[in-house]
Amino acid sequence: MSSVRAYTATSATAPLTPGTVERREVGPRDVLIDIAYAGICHSDIHTVRGDWGEVPYPLTVGHEIAGVVARVGSEVTHHRVGDRVGVGCMVDSCRECANCLAGVEQYCLRGFTDTYNGVDRDGSVTQGGYSESIVVDEHFVLSIPDAIPFEKAAPLLCAGITTYSPLRTWNAGPGTRVAVVGLGGLGHMAVKLAHAMGAEVTVLSQSLKKREDGLRFGADHYRATGDPATFEELANTFDLIVNTVSAPIDLDAHLNLLALDGTIVSVGAPPEPVPVTLFTLFENRRSFAGSKIGGIAQTQEMLDFCAEHGIAPEVEVISADRVNEAWERVLASDVRYRFVIDISTLRRG
Ligand SMILES: [Zn+2]
Ligand SMILES: [Zn+2]
Repeated sequence: MSSVRAYTATSATAPLTPGTVERREVGPRDVLIDIAYAGICHSDIHTVRGDWGEVPYPLTVGHEIAGVVARVGSEVTHHRVGDRVGVGCMVDSCRECANCLAGVEQYCLRGFTDTYNGVDRDGSVTQGGYSESIVVDEHFVLSIPDAIPFEKAAPLLCAGITTYSPLRTWNAGPGTRVAVVGLGGLGHMAVKLAHAMGAEVTVLSQSLKKREDGLRFGADHYRATGDPATFEELANTFDLIVNTVSAPIDLDAHLNLLALDGTIVSVGAPPEPVPVTLFTLFENRRSFAGSKIGGIAQTQEMLDFCAEHGIAPEVEVISADRVNEAWERVLASDVRYRFVIDISTLRRG
C-alpha cells in the first residue's frame, strides 16, 4: 500500500480538504497512473452529499481521470510506462456474466465496481480521481489518443461516453433528427457528438440563454422549452431525444415530439418516479428508454471518434484548492461546461 495526496470529503456537509488515500500495490494486471487532470461530475457532489445513500467517509471522488502510466504489472499487455491513459466510472466487473462477455461491463449482472465509493475485491472502498495517482486493472484503463489534451480527455470518460453510447445505440446519423434536452456538461457533449455523427441536431433548453454556444457546438436549431409554441411546432418530428437533465421534465410533452418509432432516452434522472401517460407511447409507436455510461470497448471507440473528428468538451481548468468553489458553481449551473482539476496543483499543495 502507498499513501498518495488527495482532496477528500470528511462528511456530507464539510468542504473537501487535502488528505491522503491508500493505493494498493501494483498487481500483475494492474496499471499505476499518475493523474494529470480529473473532471468534476455532478455525481461526485450527489455522492458526497449523501443524495444517493450513505457514504463511508473519508471519501475521495472523481471518475473522469486522465494521466500517464507510471508502472505496470508483469502480465499487463495493453499499456506501457509513459502511455497516455484514462479511467472512467468503472474499475472492475465480474468479466464472466453474459453482459460482461458481451462487452457491456456497465450492465454487469453482479454490478460493476464504481471508481469511487465502490467495494473493491479486497473489501476496501474504492477512491476516485481527485488524487495524485490510482491503481486500476488494465482492462478498465483506456488509451487517450495524442490528439486529445489531458484536460479535455478527462470529461470524455463520463460525460462523453454517457452521451455517445445512446447516440450509437439508437443510430444517430445522417438523415436522423436528434434533440438534446439540456445544454450542460452532458448536453454539450451530446450536441457535439450527434453533429459529428451527421444527425440534424436541435437543443431543447429552458431558455435561449446559451443559444450562441449551442449553435457553435454544432446544433442546427435551438428552442426554448419554456415557450409552449416549441411543443406545438416540433410535435412528431424527432427520431431520438437524449434527455440529459436531472430535474423532472414533462415526459408526456417531450414524448409527443417523437416521430414514428422515435425514442426518448434519459441519461439524467431525478430521484423520484416520473409520471407518463402510456397513450402517448401508443402514438407513433414511441419508446421511452434509459442508458448508463458505456462499455470499455465503446469508451475506447468514443475516444478515437473524438480524436478523429476533433471533438472535445469545453473545460474550465482549476487548481485543487478551488474545488469547493467549483462544486458550488456546478450546483448553481454556473459552468461552461465542465470543471477539470489540474492535479499538479495538488502535488505542489
Ligand atoms: Zn460522472
Ligand atoms: Zn459481469
